[in-house]
Amino acid sequence: MDLALASQWERVCARLRAEFGDAAFNSWLRPLEFEGIKDERALLSAPTRFMRDWVISHYGERVRAVWQTENSVVTDIRIHVRPRQAATRAAEAGEADSGEAEGNDAPLTPATPPTLVTDMGSSLDSRFRFDSFVVGKSNELAYAAAHRVADSPTVTFNPLFLYGGVGLGKTHLIHAIAWHIHERDPNRKVIYLSAEKFMYQFIRALRDRDAMSFKQAFRSVDVLLIDDVQFFSRKDSTQEEFFHTFNALVDQNKQIVISADRSPSDLEDIEERIRSRLGWGLVADIHQTDFELRLGILEQKLKTASIEGFPQNVLEFLAHRITSNVRELEGALNRLIAYSNLVGRPITLELTQDVLQDLLRANDRRVTIEEIQKKVAQHFNIRLADMHSARRARNVARPRQVAMYLSKQLTTRSLPEIGRKFGGRDHTTVMHAVRRIEELRQTDANLTEDIDLLRRMLEA
Ligand code: ADP
Ligand code: MG
Repeated sequence: MDLALASQWERVCARLRAEFGDAAFNSWLRPLEFEGIKDERALLSAPTRFMRDWVISHYGERVRAVWQTENSVVTDIRIHVRPRQAATRAAEAGEADSGEAEGNDAPLTPATPPTLVTDMGSSLDSRFRFDSFVVGKSNELAYAAAHRVADSPTVTFNPLFLYGGVGLGKTHLIHAIAWHIHERDPNRKVIYLSAEKFMYQFIRALRDRDAMSFKQAFRSVDVLLIDDVQFFSRKDSTQEEFFHTFNALVDQNKQIVISADRSPSDLEDIEERIRSRLGWGLVADIHQTDFELRLGILEQKLKTASIEGFPQNVLEFLAHRITSNVRELEGALNRLIAYSNLVGRPITLELTQDVLQDLLRANDRRVTIEEIQKKVAQHFNIRLADMHSARRARNVARPRQVAMYLSKQLTTRSLPEIGRKFGGRDHTTVMHAVRRIEELRQTDANLTEDIDLLRRMLEA
């Protein structure tokens, strides 16, 4: 190849590496091979279809943009899958469905471009559909409610409020609702955006003295989906505007769907009357995943990426050990596959433990409320049952408060979730316990010592 072109690619790589860091660069971009420039397109190849898709969806736009600054002739990139070595190809002979050369070529723009629903909203991820959402015990209520809202021609619950921890599928479900409604009836006006974006748009409208068109745009929608409302900031005019929009839409019988990382009553930064209004419809929470669901999700991801022959023991190992959230689970699978491709080693348990060391360790360190209760009960020499009991004697009440305090500190559980695990107590009881222990820590050196010891044991 032309030397000038080759050094162009090197410069592009250097910039991408600086931008994304060594780890991402080595996993995803280094395996690409540059093949030349044709018809204003830079042609690249990737070792597998999976990697090609990943690079396109995560880095494609940046690769294109960086390239264009190096060489203004290039307007697009194209990545195809390198023909595989004879051995692997024979092993996957059953997979001869797509024409190798042409069929594997993927333009940067996907076949069904994510539709920008309206100019006020954000675009939808074309992967987030109902049929790619794996249903299990922890998310069945949220899934059913989301599906009902998307299916129903009339307003069912208003609002539908979905909440759950990070990476458990809230955004996925909200996008799925939007896609579904949009596909059934393209005339229905759907807006999807995050609370942050809503605030930003509103502030910009105020600055441009154009609040009127902002109001009109939002109040003329049929379906409004707002993601991550915990990001509404403390009691200001954007919250107020959101509340007016919300009420106006409810009055006109328009569907609203909201997501947050906590329940309406736990949204401390949101004004009380708005909070309570948010809980009027159906509130559905997504719980932590269980093993079956995690396994199901991994299997589905492999299927979507057309990867066959992935060792079952490794899959189960991942489902057992990466328990924090689905995003990490997907990330782990991707990293493993990329690594194995890159170094040309088969995926085994050993390789998995090696490659995912950091992630596995981080997941190990996650403490459960049950462990906290057990350790605290042992330490203070009370019965485990007293963590749940109604007894108020100081010698059991104080350790219980310590356990609640540690649950708040060491887990990502919300106050109501913690309350539930302590014999169905109210979240205000938990809040009180946390404050009380914080106060006591200022004055009571023994208690502080106990807590530090417990924390170290739990985190070890
Ligand atoms: P959240 O918005 O709750 O933080 P996301 O909806 O962004 O989480 O989900 C994180 C990732 O996990 C996404 O790639 C999503 O597709 C995937 N995911 C989460 N739950 C599921 C599920 N039940 N089935 C399939 N994929 C899921
Ligand atoms: Mg989200």
